[in-house]
Amino acid sequence: MDLGIRGKSALVCASSRGLGLGCAEALAEAGVNLTMNARGSDQLEASAAAVREKFGIAVTAVAADIASEDGRKKVLDRCGPVDILVSNAGGPPPGMWTDWNRGDFLKALESNMLTPIALMKALVPTMMERGWGRVVNITSQSVKAPIPSLGLSNSARAGLTGFVAGTSRQVAKSGVTINNLLPGVHATDRADALDQGIANAEGITLDEARSRRASTIPVGRYGTSAEFGAACAFLCSRHAGFIVGQNILLDGGGVNATL
Ligand code: NAD
Repeated sequence: MDLGIRGKSALVCASSRGLGLGCAEALAEAGVNLTMNARGSDQLEASAAAVREKFGIAVTAVAADIASEDGRKKVLDRCGPVDILVSNAGGPPPGMWTDWNRGDFLKALESNMLTPIALMKALVPTMMERGWGRVVNITSQSVKAPIPSLGLSNSARAGLTGFVAGTSRQVAKSGVTINNLLPGVHATDRADALDQGIANAEGITLDEARSRRASTIPVGRYGTSAEFGAACAFLCSRHAGFIVGQNILLDGGGVNATL
C-alpha cells in the first residue's frame, strides 16, 4: 500500500533504538524525511546513518534530552515545522508506590506527559495552518491495564491520554489527527531492563524471565519494533485521516478486555 506521505517531514523523538527507531524506519520506508533524536550521539548517529543509507531519505540527527526544555528547543530549532510528530521518551523506573517522592513524579510527568504536550503545542499550530498533520504519541498498554510496579508511568501516561482525548477533537477539523499507540511487551532494551529486574529479584536467568513473560501473551512472543513502526506509519498515512483521538493497543492480545 502506498501510504501517500512521500516527501513529508517527521520528527521522531527518542529514536536511536527500540520502538522509536522502528517508527523512524517505517516512516523512512514510506519516503518521509526525518529528524531523529536521542540523548547520546554515538548510537543516534549510527542509527541515522543506517536509515539514510537504507531508505535514501534525508535524516537530521539531534542529540538532546527531549524531556528538558533546552533539549526540546535544540530539537525544535533543527527540525523546524514538520508534518508528522512521533513523541517518545524513556519510561520511568519500576518500584513500589512508597518509593516515589514528589521529584520522582515530576520527572515522570516531564518525560511522559509534559514533553509530548509541549511538542504538540510547538508543532501542531503549523500543521493546522497547512491543513494536514499527524501526531502519534508512544504511550503504553498500562493506559488500559495499569501495571502495579509502574506507578510513575501509569500516572504520567493517564495524564497525556486525557489531554489527547480533548485536544485531538479540537484540532481534527484542520486535517490534523492525534492518536496514541500503546505498546504491550516488545523486544527492546526497555523490556530487557524490566526482565533483568525480575530475574535479579527472583533469582532466575534473563531468558527464564523473558519466557515467563512471553507465556502470558496470547501470541506467545514479544512484539517487534518493526511491527510497531508499521502501525505507526499507517497512522501517519493519508489513509488514517478518520482515526482521531484513539488509544490503539499493540500487545499481542495481552490486555484481556473487549473495549
Ligand atoms: P528503549 O529503552 O529500548 O529505547 C528508548 C530510546 O529512547 C533510546 O533511543 C533512548 O536513547 C531514547 N531516549 C530515552 N529517553 C530519552 C530522552 N529523554 N530524550 C531523548 N531520547 C531518549 O525503549 P522502548 O522499549 O523503545 O520504549 C519506548 C517507550 O515505550 C518508553 O516510554 C517505554 O516505557 C514505552 N513502552 C515500552 C514497552 C516495551 O515493551 N518495550 C512497553 C510499554 C511501553
